[in-house]
Formats: sequence, structure tokens, C-alpha cells
Amino acid sequence: MKHTRKQKEAQLLAEAQSVIEEFLNWEEQTDKPNLTQIEDIVLRLRERLGQRMATVAIEDQDAKQPVEAPACPTCDEPLRYKGQKGTEVASRIGEIDLERGHYYCARCHSGLFPPGRPT
Ligand SMILES: [Zn+2]
Repeated sequence: MKHTRKQKEAQLLAEAQSVIEEFLNWEEQTDKPNLTQIEDIVLRLRERLGQRMATVAIEDQDAKQPVEAPACPTCDEPLRYKGQKGTEVASRIGEIDLERGHYYCARCHSGLFPPGRPT
């Protein structure tokens, strides 16, 4: 399902607010943090907001996908749509949890979560 700009904004604002809350709580509870402690919390919270942005972008891209099944990257057979499935994607901005369309190749029995990762 394609999300409106308003829906995406609401999702991102909610995540940003929760990140800011956690940061302020941490700041109140941490007496004289050193630079390493500050780096740790900032990197962790930044990662969370980044993951949310990536999720918004990827889910929207998923929603824009054409109804025709993509071709199998291995054998070029048209893939079968198997419904939405949760998947965890490792990325340069950390693990991202996604609900994405899952496709299956009947010929070579491989599964695919488009858009996948370019190789
Ligand atoms: Zn195949």
C-alpha cells in the first residue's frame, strides 16, 4: 500500500520524538558523560531514525512495484508472488525490519524480496 506524505511524516515524527525522548532521558540519568558515552548514544539513536527513514522509503518503493512478477535473477523464470512477509535486511545503516512482498521461483526454488540488493 502506498503511503501519503502525511502518513510518512507522521511515522517519521513519531520516531524522531521517541529518539529525542530517549536522548533526554539518557542525558538526565547520565552524570558527566564522557565523549565515548555521548558517541554511543548519538550513534545508536541516529541509527534508529535512519532505519525508520529507510523503512519508509523501501516500503513505499515496494508499494509502487508493478503487478507483474519480477523475473528470477538466477534463471529468468517469472517469479510467483507469495504475499507479504517480514524480513530483516542488513544494511550499512543497521538491521532493518520490513514487511515486503515475497516472491518464489518454482524452477530454481529461490526466494526474492524485491528490490533486493544490487550485486
Ligand atoms: Zn529461478
